[in-house]
Amino acid sequence: MSKHFETQAIRTQTEKSQFSEHSTPLYLTSGFVFDDAEEMRASFADEKQRNLYSRFTNPNTTEFVDKIIQMEGAEAGYAFATGMSAIFSTLGALLSAGDHVVSCRSVFGSTHSMFTKYLPKWNIETSYFKINETDKIESLIKPNTKILYAETPTNPGVEIIDLELLGTIAKKHNLLLVIDNCFATPYLQTPIKFGADLVVHSATKLIDGQGRVMGGVTVGSKDLIREIYLFSRNTGPAMSPFNAWVLSKSLETLAVRVDKHCENALKVAEFLEGNSNVNFVKYPFLKSHPQYEIAKKQMKLGGNIIAFEIKGGIEIGRAFLDKIKMCSLSANLGDTRTIVTHPASTTHASLSEEDRLEVGITDGLVRVSVGLENADDIIADIKQALDN
Ligand SMILES: *Cc1c(COP(=O)(O)O)cnc(C)c1O
Repeated sequence: MSKHFETQAIRTQTEKSQFSEHSTPLYLTSGFVFDDAEEMRASFADEKQRNLYSRFTNPNTTEFVDKIIQMEGAEAGYAFATGMSAIFSTLGALLSAGDHVVSCRSVFGSTHSMFTKYLPKWNIETSYFKINETDKIESLIKPNTKILYAETPTNPGVEIIDLELLGTIAKKHNLLLVIDNCFATPYLQTPIKFGADLVVHSATKLIDGQGRVMGGVTVGSKDLIREIYLFSRNTGPAMSPFNAWVLSKSLETLAVRVDKHCENALKVAEFLEGNSNVNFVKYPFLKSHPQYEIAKKQMKLGGNIIAFEIKGGIEIGRAFLDKIKMCSLSANLGDTRTIVTHPASTTHASLSEEDRLEVGITDGLVRVSVGLENADDIIADIKQALDN
């Protein structure tokens, strides 16, 4: 029986224990026991698929991963302690010294540091394309290019990259296409359908959705995940059973939460578009968004992140944050609570103005991660801060 997204999220479960519990229990165990020497031998030789040690697999992480596999339309997956460990292990498992990566310039800050500071230590170089230069991607590809990497929507500029185009380029040049699907979640967008080989997530964001635990996950084809699994089971970035238990429960409400996040975000975006203190608003499902047509093609709804520019410079952006009363000033996103940030003076303050502009961060740019409070209250808070 082919089940719908919400049903899979709720009805995918590990086998019940002898207690016939309804809700999946938490398996706080580092190891698992074997009946005899032969079972232990066969298990370690991978002839028998079962739990050996929680650095490899655990019933809670397996349940969480099984749900993401179904949601993304993948064959296999592995869960990590954080989004960054998912990204690092995915790249670490698949890249060798001398390989080359082509990536979108607008990627998560730590991902960018990995490309610029750490991968070069192993002689792995990265070339970047800007969002509005997708026609230049093919010219960046070299004989040693192995991975094409992107995020969409991007952070914090909320730009959209055409996944179908990336899929076509990756296939033509025999590259592995890796997509960070964190901002969209598998409920809004499934990159594998457009040709992605691997999808990575920070589960810390909308997948948890309540600002509690950290996590990451990579899903894709059996063969690629097998390599990533073997790399990870030896290098040790595994997700903890407790976090997997929390995150698997979170997935049961992902669809209803994300629907509401998107409904609220569209209302906030429409309000901002009509405000005279605002220069521009970027939200994928506003007709004014430069990649509106692409967003409509590949996303079910517009997501919960809005970027907008306040008239005035850096000081006005900071003053806006100081006037906010209800919304939180925090570095996280994808929480039930609405969060506002001013990237130019905080997360991206260390970049030069030129570098900031390259990733779409103007001095007055504000990023809002729209939460699940009543939309009228979110709008009222932003409005009073803008008016003041
Ligand atoms: C937060 C984030 C990450 C990193 O995830 P952590 O769980 O914080 O390690 C990676 N990519 C994107 C797009 C993110 O927003």
